[in-house]
Amino acid sequence: MRFSDDFISELRARTDLEELVGRYTEIRDRGSSRPRALCPFHSEKTPSFFIYRENQSFYCFGCGIGGDAITFVRNIERLDYVEAVRFLAERAGMNMPTDPVDDEYLRLRRRCYEANREAARFFYACLKTESAAPAREYLKKRQLSPETVKHFGLGYAPDTWDALLKHLKGKGFTESELVAFYLARQGKNGHAYDVFRNKLMFPIIDLRGNVIAFGGRVLDDSKPKYINTSDTVVYKKGSGIYALNFAKNNKERKLILCEGYMDVIAMHQAGFTNAVAALGTAFTQEQVSLLSRYCDELYLSFDSDGAGQTATRRALRMLENAPMKIKVMNLSGGKDPDEIIKSEGKQKIDELISTAQNDTEFALSGARAKYDIKTDGGKLGYINDAVLVLAGISNPVERSIYINRVAEETGTAPEPIQHQVERALKTRSARARQEDFEHRAREAAGDDRGKIPNPERRDNLRACKAEETILASLLLNPDFLTRFAGTLGADSFVTKVNRELYQGIAERIRNHRPLDISYFAEDSTNETINMLAYLQTFSKKIAGTKREFEDCINTLAEEKLKKTVPAGEGLSDADFLRLIESKKNKMGV
Ligand SMILES: [Zn+2]
Repeated sequence: MRFSDDFISELRARTDLEELVGRYTEIRDRGSSRPRALCPFHSEKTPSFFIYRENQSFYCFGCGIGGDAITFVRNIERLDYVEAVRFLAERAGMNMPTDPVDDEYLRLRRRCYEANREAARFFYACLKTESAAPAREYLKKRQLSPETVKHFGLGYAPDTWDALLKHLKGKGFTESELVAFYLARQGKNGHAYDVFRNKLMFPIIDLRGNVIAFGGRVLDDSKPKYINTSDTVVYKKGSGIYALNFAKNNKERKLILCEGYMDVIAMHQAGFTNAVAALGTAFTQEQVSLLSRYCDELYLSFDSDGAGQTATRRALRMLENAPMKIKVMNLSGGKDPDEIIKSEGKQKIDELISTAQNDTEFALSGARAKYDIKTDGGKLGYINDAVLVLAGISNPVERSIYINRVAEETGTAPEPIQHQVERALKTRSARARQEDFEHRAREAAGDDRGKIPNPERRDNLRACKAEETILASLLLNPDFLTRFAGTLGADSFVTKVNRELYQGIAERIRNHRPLDISYFAEDSTNETINMLAYLQTFSKKIAGTKREFEDCINTLAEEKLKKTVPAGEGLSDADFLRLIESKKNKMGV
């Protein structure tokens, strides 16, 4: 237990969740009993993010994220639990109780940073050894200077099973630590071995200068091209931005988003020190919000090949609601930035930056490329596609500028295009209203659309609904725990997620501790917090009576029994019901 319940409860009392959320996203229906907002964690046009003022919690019906002020800060500021509490305490003008430095989790994080830093040093030193010749050859081919290699701390992981392992064990790290930090893997024979072998190594450094992960590139044509650190205590996949530690200091608040490590490094070497790359295969909302803190203008610099263009479109969709200006650089000729710098020099990059297109121009030129607009059929096809792009522009002045441009390009009058765009806009707003309606209906019905983080839910829907009702009811009626102690226990639960949640809630009730999300936050996973937030929302829709609670216990007993009947035994329905009745009696349900 890191913070006392008293401390957390004062922090809660001094934090206004609505005001806090309002700093990151615009809140609709401010002051109403149920304020909502566009979710800052996923991209959406209709607000699904609800704030529950009565218990200072939030829940997003779109992506299923939920929690309290601490959870919100953890997710949006990418902080760990203690850092998030400190963040809120500072805002509230409270002193932190005592710095919990001796805490096990913090200790583990510190060890992980140390092991990573030591590993990065080791890889860098190995780059100078004889066996690293292929890695040096590769760097030479990419024309990276020794200064650049040093600046980015590039290194070489030797082609052996335990070079790093031996080195780090010599520095006092244990095998199990190194496995947990994703530097080693546990082999079938019980011996651990190095994760990264015969790879060019790219250390990934966070904004405070800690080495948090590694990317390892193969030195031949084998697949996969890269191996990356998986989730550890200091790193979560899909959360980081490569080279942001260098690029964040650029005065112009412009960033260039490239596709991979090598592009970024080549750009920096050429003087574009504001180049970064998103780590991981999918560009995430978390990365968008991290970028938006360090730039007002973001230039997408992806390859012009098919995959690069798809990546650009995907990124543009993720960036739709981002608070910065987006430009797309036109890297034609199937080249990446690295190749362009080598063949045409850095001034070509300057030129690409100054001629970068905004998202509308990018979409229009994509549509235009599909048709031969010298022919009537081609013009028509282009105009039809363009109308959909134009109808997506919210600013009317901007819209009319581009309508005129399309008219000019195709040699037609702007009025008919204008007319088509207006029709498309009407259909669009009708659809948006419909979506909004459906959305509210879903919310009212408590339909989660599968966003509840319980992997067993789909196959155990009936049991899960009963389990969720029981848990939600316990939040409303803690006394039910002892009242139904004879018929309900952890064993009554069918799914693991809910069983563990029950154990957590029951333990708190037994120890007379508060049941709000804030008090769970420190020792719970994100999934647990999301689930709790959902249960708090759900608890408003249930009756919360003893009768309902009993019914759910019975449902659970039935579902549990169904599972104990061996498959294929061929019981008739009647026999099955008899079996259930007999077992129920034995259990005293
Ligand atoms: Zn959301």
